[in-house]
Amino acid sequence: MNHICRVCQSSNLHFLFTINKSRFVRCHTCTHVFLDSTYDDDAIKQMYERYGDDKGRTYLQGINADVLNTIDTYLRSCREYCRTDSSPLRLLDIGCGTGALLNRAKKLGFAIEGIEICEPLAKDAAGNAGCPVHNTLVTHVALPEDNFDIIVMYDLIEHLQDPVGDMNIIYRLLKKGGILFILTPNDNALLRKISRVLYRASLHCFSKPMERLYYSDHLSYFTPKSISAFLKRFACEIVLLETRNQELSRLELPCISRWGVRTVFHFSEYFSDLGGKLVVYARKV
Ligand SMILES: [Zn+2]
Repeated sequence: MNHICRVCQSSNLHFLFTINKSRFVRCHTCTHVFLDSTYDDDAIKQMYERYGDDKGRTYLQGINADVLNTIDTYLRSCREYCRTDSSPLRLLDIGCGTGALLNRAKKLGFAIEGIEICEPLAKDAAGNAGCPVHNTLVTHVALPEDNFDIIVMYDLIEHLQDPVGDMNIIYRLLKKGGILFILTPNDNALLRKISRVLYRASLHCFSKPMERLYYSDHLSYFTPKSISAFLKRFACEIVLLETRNQELSRLELPCISRWGVRTVFHFSEYFSDLGGKLVVYARKV
């Protein structure tokens, strides 16, 4: 078992549950939840190779549809919050997949660049967006410091085993006044809270929702509190932190489950921190 929290280094951890053969632990100090496993770089690369096969690409098409529904709004907000004086604004998308987000950013006038660990996807992204795409881990990328006005981590930070170590590198790539945009699952989401209660109340028999919400590719699960604690470690000011529910079209669910999820989403919208995704804009100061 890991003995310290990967966000705040607290040793005040407790075991949560085992789902999909993976152990999950929570930090009592900052609420961060993480997978109690350690992978080396080769194992992580292998984990993402399957994103390049047919099944992985079908999955990414769903994500791309979600990206295209929302990304223009996010990119315009990044531009509005950015306090650098570059023109055009230089944008880096870490974990760029097939380049859907980069394509939109290019159309909105950003100078774009990507990082993608899965080789076939990196090639697709470079072809689709017509820009440099580095096929490597962010920890291995050779880019100058203070190089980007906007850095996007869309559905990315939950995949990081060492978010603080990786952020040390990402932070250096960002210019002073630049914006870091993070979108990631919210572990404080109402849907997750209900799923955990049902799982415990059924003595772990009702596990299907949990299996859909916690899986081995996601190594880190943030809450509004833990993402704030995480960003506090760096000289970043949070410009906006909000939650929102993802597109239902992205979720492959039977009819009754879809109705249940829609109902939970509806109620969660009465609260500012219970939506399914965390959306954060942070400025480097
Ligand atoms: Zn912690």
